[in-house]
Amino acid sequence: MRTKNYIKIKNLSKSFGDVEVLKNINLEVEEGEFFSLLGPSGCGKTTLLRILAGFEYPSEGEVFFDDANVTSLPPNLRPSNMVFQNYAIFPHINVQRNIEFGLRKENLSKAEMGERVENALKMVQLEGYENRYSNQLSGGQRQRIALARALVKQPKVLLLDEPLGALDKKLREEMQIELRNLQKSLGITFIFVTHDQEEAMTMSDRIAVMDEGNILQVSPPREIYHNPKNKFVSQFIGNINILDADLKSIANDIISISVDGFGLMQLKNHQNIIESDQVNIAIRPEEINISKVSDSKYDCNFKGKVKNISFYGESTYFYIQLDNSEKILMVSTNESKETFSENDNCFVNFNSTNLKIIKD
Ligand code: ATP
Repeated sequence: MRTKNYIKIKNLSKSFGDVEVLKNINLEVEEGEFFSLLGPSGCGKTTLLRILAGFEYPSEGEVFFDDANVTSLPPNLRPSNMVFQNYAIFPHINVQRNIEFGLRKENLSKAEMGERVENALKMVQLEGYENRYSNQLSGGQRQRIALARALVKQPKVLLLDEPLGALDKKLREEMQIELRNLQKSLGITFIFVTHDQEEAMTMSDRIAVMDEGNILQVSPPREIYHNPKNKFVSQFIGNINILDADLKSIANDIISISVDGFGLMQLKNHQNIIESDQVNIAIRPEEINISKVSDSKYDCNFKGKVKNISFYGESTYFYIQLDNSEKILMVSTNESKETFSENDNCFVNFNSTNLKIIKD
């Protein structure tokens, strides 16, 4: 059970030369949490993880583990351990010795060491693999050995830098479930770096979305998906339609807004928008329906034409050109809508409560 904020990052910045790659980061991670840092390549995820591990030091700010200031401690004096993307297991020694390597500074007896290695192998479900060498293991098994080598030290925090990045899609998905189960059963705090939004969504308790050295939003996956704080976050997580909008006025919590393709609309101001904000309107493809005639179940019905249809098996995407706009709207459904063909006239329908007002 999560009890407290185990990791605290306060006013942390990092520059390499003139380039500031982390900008005033403030973040707290709870004990036993599966926490992901998600963002595009170069946004600073690895640098932040390396600072937590003690491989880099911040230019400004502080890092606390369990209320102890660890900002200037080297990696071996921190209660954390790191797992890298490229396995980092030695090819010239067997699995047993690879895992023991993590314990070399701990002055353990041979029996204690043996027991710790056996336990670590059990955790990653590779009991009996002690005598194998790296070239006798699959990619997934090598990554599990790298994990065992980090776990054998019994860290309070495991820092994982795209650990599944080199695996093929199917194995990666299996390992995602395995890792998540392992983390929950051990109760260790995981900080997991990835640029893969689906991976972050399926595994994490909470996600920090990063861009250009800033943290834009920290929320559980569903919250990020349904209530993205800004345009970048909304587009980085899942598919979404973004429509240009012109905010006309706000009165009594109701926003009057002119939306490309939909015209003038009145929406509730859930997001504390103010009149000077630059905003867009967004709606997820699965929140829109397609029909032959307008449907009174929905308070919004607009005419359009089916431009393209993409069939993905479990879902179908329709690309609809709205009648009064250049805008192509993405609509997805998992029902069979085989009555529609490309170039058919159609209606798109949705409830205005599904429209999100999103800041730029
Ligand atoms: P990726 O997903 O591609 O690994 P990332 O989000 O992890 O990207 P970082 O590796 O943290 O990004 O890099 C952030 C920025 O800092 C990049 O512009 C990178 O070039 C720069 N950078 C990282 N390490 C150094 C270094 N040692 N010296 C100079 N610049 C660096």
